Parts: sequence; structure tokens; C-alpha cells
Amino acid sequence: MKRLHNQPLQNNSDWDIIIIGGGATGLGVAVDATTRGLKTLLVEQADFAKGTSSRSTKLVHGGVRYLAQGDIKLVKHALKERGLLQKNARHLVDKEEFIIPCYDWFSVAKYLTGLTVYDWLAGNYSFGKSKFFNKQETLALMPGIKAKGLKGSIRYYDGKFDDARLAINIAQTAIENGATLCNYTKVVSLSKNIENEVEGIQIIDTITGDTTHQKGKVIINATGVFVDDILRMSDEHSKKLVRPSQGVHVVLDKAFLNSKSALMIPKTSDGRVLFAVPWHEHLLVGTTDTPLNEHSLEPRALKEEVDFIIATAASYFNTKPLKKDILSVFSGLRPLAAPSNGDVNSTKEISRDHKLMVSAKGLITITGGKWTTYRRMAEETVDLAIEHAGLVASACITKDLKIHGCTLTSGNHHLDIYGTDRQEIEQLAKSEPELSARIHPKFPNILAEIVWSARNEMAETIEDILSRRMRILFIDAKAAKEMAPKVAELLAKEFKQQISWEKDQIDIFNNLADGYIYQTQEIESETEITK
Ligand SMILES: Cc1cc2nc3c(=O)[nH]c(=O)nc-3n(C[C@H](O)[C@H](O)[C@H](O)COP(=O)(O)OP(=O)(O)OC[C@H]3O[C@@H](n4cnc5c(N)ncnc54)[C@H](O)[C@@H]3O)c2cc1C
Repeated sequence: MKRLHNQPLQNNSDWDIIIIGGGATGLGVAVDATTRGLKTLLVEQADFAKGTSSRSTKLVHGGVRYLAQGDIKLVKHALKERGLLQKNARHLVDKEEFIIPCYDWFSVAKYLTGLTVYDWLAGNYSFGKSKFFNKQETLALMPGIKAKGLKGSIRYYDGKFDDARLAINIAQTAIENGATLCNYTKVVSLSKNIENEVEGIQIIDTITGDTTHQKGKVIINATGVFVDDILRMSDEHSKKLVRPSQGVHVVLDKAFLNSKSALMIPKTSDGRVLFAVPWHEHLLVGTTDTPLNEHSLEPRALKEEVDFIIATAASYFNTKPLKKDILSVFSGLRPLAAPSNGDVNSTKEISRDHKLMVSAKGLITITGGKWTTYRRMAEETVDLAIEHAGLVASACITKDLKIHGCTLTSGNHHLDIYGTDRQEIEQLAKSEPELSARIHPKFPNILAEIVWSARNEMAETIEDILSRRMRILFIDAKAAKEMAPKVAELLAKEFKQQISWEKDQIDIFNNLADGYIYQTQEIESETEITK
């Protein structure tokens, strides 16, 4: 998957399907469409998965919480997709053991019953049976949780993945199957024919500044929380479809939980669910659900959200985390479908299922849903596109389609995340031995990964490398800042850029990374309180 900015797109009026948005949803549609023989173009305004699709809780799941809400159909579909995704992206999706600690016997009975139903709904796609563990067994599995009052726990299985890496591998799968994918390419307007039907997009390459016009038989709006911006390009009076809801995660040292299993807190003080998930040798804790009136590509955590996560974790962990222990904090926006009654203050009753609709002749919008169900959402979208635009296409094949890099097993080496590409990265490090050096003493990642991603994964910037190819910015923002100069140096060499480009890149990245570091003034006041 080579970078495209050396060979920009020409004007083209020949596409069957044009997809706007390179998150989970758009990328899934690209793979589905191209493997059905449709001439497919996808444009993404920033990097693939720059939006919500790199900011999830990293669960490939049926959604235990939706089961509690009685949404059986949603859970059943998602459990099937969980199984398919694990089969087709084995290198990125792991089975994970989740522990729900119970401090009263009623909870034991309630969660064991609910999770037995969850297992049953998975049918042939089951990841394993749920089970009760007594207090001693629970503490042996998860020594980091509070022992006082503990009756036992319920163990259940779900999936865990690396969201942004999966997005990159799905993009590669689409390209290998004939699609054209452009990152850093923004849609600035839609074009219409004389019958007022949407027929094309005006795009700008945000790196070179080149603009072109692309025409297609059908345009798919898969822009997550940005769908309303695209809809307004078609009809300035279009009704709001999406209500953004912010979810924040903090990353801590894995020693806080001291376990290979993940912790699930089924009911926090505000009635929501909180997870603490071991991820890339650290502990990811979240999330929140805060309705917002605005959307952006870099949403920022609110102080109340971080306070809430830390306080909830502290009430379950033996060692209470402090804000100074936060290695990274990141936020994502759920593109929840807006309620038709216009109630803007609650996100609880807003549908978590996806919405798929013909928004105008020639324009289809797909929004909402989950990462876990991206494949099924794509299948439904392409089915609708075929029907709407009268396209000639073959049947969907993605249930059995392996994602780029898929291996038979997943391993523990940090390069296993690249799946079948691991060997090539090792080969690169062997042929250029200076690339076998580590980038940072705290992380196992080597220089060859930077060069690999620049040459094969369409990475353009330091951020692309440190946020979404390696996940360092999401894991430890200070370490990411320390790595930035080395990444800039190698990218400048690869892309034949001047020292001024390198310096600009570092400044831009440092600015961004500061937003992932929990603010120092907060920590100082906390230190005083805890003295
Ligand atoms: C906090 C949180 C936790 C979550 N956890 C989970 C989880 O554990 N498991 C799970 O299954 N799901 C989870 N989800 C849901 C899942 O992450 C989302 O459903 C999914 O990522 C949405 O993908 P998307 O492609 O629709 O949106 P996005 O990933 O936001 O992609 C939309 C893209 O469109 C691009 N775009 C916008 N405007 C333009 C334009 N004019 N031109 C070109 N491109 C444009 C944007 O740059 C963006 O990259 C979570 C969501 C959140 C917020």
C-alpha cells in the first residue's frame, strides 16, 4: 500500500461507488464493494482511522450492556460478527477473559444468569463458557482488585483488538482487491446533475493542495460524527442525524490490575459500564458517555470525565491510581443516531444500532453501529447501493475474506500485530541492521517499523506512525514525544524532505501530544491534597 501523494488522482467520472470516510465503516464498505467487482474509490480527509475508529475501548464484543437493555437481536448479530472477525483477522483479535467482581450474592446470580444467556446467543461463535469463581479464585486471577467484601466473580469471554491497526489492514485488503484509497483527501462539496441528483465529489488533497472532481454512480457518506456536514452539502436544510457522545479512556501502568484478564464493572455510580483492559502491556480504563453539541477530529477529555474514571477505578483497585499515574488520555466521539424527538440531554435512550438510508438520489448515509459489526454494516450498505443505483455486482464474500496480515494464530511478540508482515519487517531489520535498534527504552518497537509503515502502510506524518501504526501516543504520550525526533528523521529520509519539514513535523506532533498528557496543573493540586 504505497503513499499516493506522489501520484495524485486525476479527474475521473468512472467510479461505480465513491465512499467518503476512512474509518471502520467506510473501509468496510470499500472492501465489500471492490470484492463484488465494483469500481471503488474511498477518500479520507486525514489518516485512516483518525476519527472514532482509533479511539474505541478495543472490544470485539456482543455488548453485555445491550443484553441488559433487552436488545437481543443487536447482541446476537454482534456475537456472530465477533466470531467472523476473529477468524478473518486472527493476528489482531484475541479472545479475552473478563472478570466481573461481585460484592453481593444477588449480583452473582444476576450476572451468571445474564452471561449464560450471552454464551447461548453466541451459538457456534462462542468464545467459551461463563463461570463463577469464588473469592480466592478471583483474587488469584486478579490480585489488583479490592478483597474486602468480595463474594466472588463471574468470568466471561469476549474479544479484544487493535482498532487502528485493523483499519490499516482493512485498507490494505481493499487496495489489494482493486479499490483506490486516498488518505489526506477531503470532500469539500458534492456535485449534482441537472435533475438535482448527487453524482460526484469535489476533493482537495490536503498535502499537495490539488483539487479534482470524481464522479460515481453512487456516493456513500460514511463520515461518522461528520455525516451531517456532508448531508448539508447536499441539502442545506437537512435534519440532524447524529448526536455525538464523547467517550474518554485513560491509560495506566498494567501493575494496577496485575492481571492478564480484563475487569468489567457492570454498574458505575452513574449506571454505566467501565472496563479496565490489558492492552499493549498497559491498562486501558474507560469509558464515559457525555453528550456534546460539537464534533472535532481531536476531541478533548473533560476534567469531570477523567475524575469519574479515576474515582471509579480507585473504588475497585487495591492501589488507588492518581492523576499523575495517567500515561495517556484520549477521547472518541460515538456517532449515535440522534433521537427524533430532539431530546439532546440524554445519550442513554439513543440507538446504538446503525442507521442506513438513502439521503438523496445518489447519496447513501451509513452511521452509528459498532466496530465489531463493521462487516455486516458494509454488506447492508453495498446491498442498498446496488439496488439504489442499479449496479451490476456479485454476491458479498466478506464473511470468509481474510484481512491483510491474517495468520492462523496470534502470538506474544510485539511484531505479531503485523501478522504475516512480521517476517518482512524482520527481513528489513536484517538487511539494514541499523533499523533493528529500539526507538525508545520503554518500548520494544524498532526503527524498521517506521520505515515499513512509511513504505507499505500509507503513513505520512509522525502522528500516523505514533498514533495509528504503533499505538504509542495512545499508551504513553510523553514517551511518544520523546520518540518523535527519530520518527521525523526517518520519515524525512524516506520522503526526501528537508530539515525544515522535519522540524515542523516535530512541532506539530508535540502540540498534538500535549493534548494526550494529563494537565500538569491538575496533578500539582492533587499532590497537595494527597500529602
Ligand atoms: C469511546 C468509544 C468507545 C468505543 N468502543 C467500542 C468497542 O470497544 N467496540 C466496538 O465494537 N465499538 C466501539 N465503539 C464504536 C466504534 O468505535 C465506532 O462505531 C466506529 O469506530 C465508527 O466508525 P466510523 O467509520 O463510522 O467513524 P469514524 O471512525 O469517525 O470515521 C469517519 C471518518 O470520516 C472522515 N471524514 C469526515 N468528513 C470528511 C470529509 N469531508 N472528507 C473525507 N473524509 C471525511 C473522518 O476524518 C473520519 O476518519 C466505540 C466508540 C467510542 C466513541
